Amino acid sequence: MKSIRSVYRIGNGPSSSHTVGPYRAAALFRARYPKASRFIVTLYGSLAFTGEGHSTGKAIRNAIPDAEIIFDRKEHDLPHPNTMLFIAEKDGQEIGRARIFSIGGGSIQVENEPSEEDTHVYPETCFSEIMDSCRSLGLNLPGLIRLREGDSLYDFLAVVWEAMKDAVQRGLNTEGILPGGLGITRKAKLLLEKRCYNEAAEVTMNRVIAAYAYAVSEENADEHIVVTAPTCGSCGVLPAVLNYMEHDRGFPEEEILDALAVAGLVGNIIRENASISGAECGCQAEIGSACSMTAAALASLYRLNIDQIEYAAEIAMEHNLGLTCDPVGGLVQIPCIERNAVAAMRAISSVNLSRFLYETRKISFDNVIATMYRTGRDLNEKYRETSHGGLANLYNTNRLGKRQ
Ligand code: SF4
Repeated sequence: MKSIRSVYRIGNGPSSSHTVGPYRAAALFRARYPKASRFIVTLYGSLAFTGEGHSTGKAIRNAIPDAEIIFDRKEHDLPHPNTMLFIAEKDGQEIGRARIFSIGGGSIQVENEPSEEDTHVYPETCFSEIMDSCRSLGLNLPGLIRLREGDSLYDFLAVVWEAMKDAVQRGLNTEGILPGGLGITRKAKLLLEKRCYNEAAEVTMNRVIAAYAYAVSEENADEHIVVTAPTCGSCGVLPAVLNYMEHDRGFPEEEILDALAVAGLVGNIIRENASISGAECGCQAEIGSACSMTAAALASLYRLNIDQIEYAAEIAMEHNLGLTCDPVGGLVQIPCIERNAVAAMRAISSVNLSRFLYETRKISFDNVIATMYRTGRDLNEKYRETSHGGLANLYNTNRLGKRQ
């Protein structure tokens, strides 16, 4: 298994597959053809259907300012639902082309070339092998991650954590309407301040965590800097819970970084054995993965044992199975922002169950990840980031589902 570093990418929202990946692909292709006078980029599949709402063109033009971009929305037999064709020309002649896939979380794959992150730093390939290694080496999960990745990983995680906290703070201090035309007002600040009379401690916790999740997700929707965890669309779940634990509950930063490492490991296992791409497997691959990562992080922070951590991650994914991706207007706003807050609370519930019931569990984390992948591949394309089905389709209807 490769390093967990690529689970966390710092970049502009609103979608890792539709902005971070295409930007990186465009920068790579441009660097290969410095003498080209014309670049033509054709977007297919989910990139073509939701690329305008997800600002894919803007992301590509940040790397190739004068790129000609075609949104090809016709039916094609594509090797990946997020496919891009780059062509470079000089003096009217084609001098190079490449098909590049945006495979989720900002990662890219050039067709017929080795993967960009080829080095395997873990001999383990799944969670059960990780558990075996922890037991045979007498290490906990952070200990094994340090052994495999080296201490320098923690310098990287410290930068990631600062970027996550920045996004929370910026989001809490910004008001107004999000771009894109849906007229959605930012709610993070309102939620943080909206304490009700005689509010119970648990209600306060959920409200504050939801406010943090809204803060980061609204920053993402506003195309500001966020950290993929594991994607931009799901970037609010993990920072919301960990920020609450550090800022409101006083957990020290070194323990938060350990939790971030455990969450990264879980995201990495999902990415390598299934997918973290909404275009490939629906929202279960994005929000489900973020929920699972967060449950594992929180269980680790509470010093639960490795079986409890595994079970928390498993529960969090199991109850997101089948979750569709149907962003209204191709924007990462409805259902995405609210969904980040709900997933943060679901991660906490998953940990609470795992704490007491782990010895009776029947489904392993590896099993639920394999199930998520199969379910995702079975999902109709309408529910895989095309904005052709679900809420995206019925948004402009009345309460009975009739078109207005
Ligand atoms: S519905 Fe889920 S997968 Fe789809 S864009 Fe929103 S957060 Fe991403």
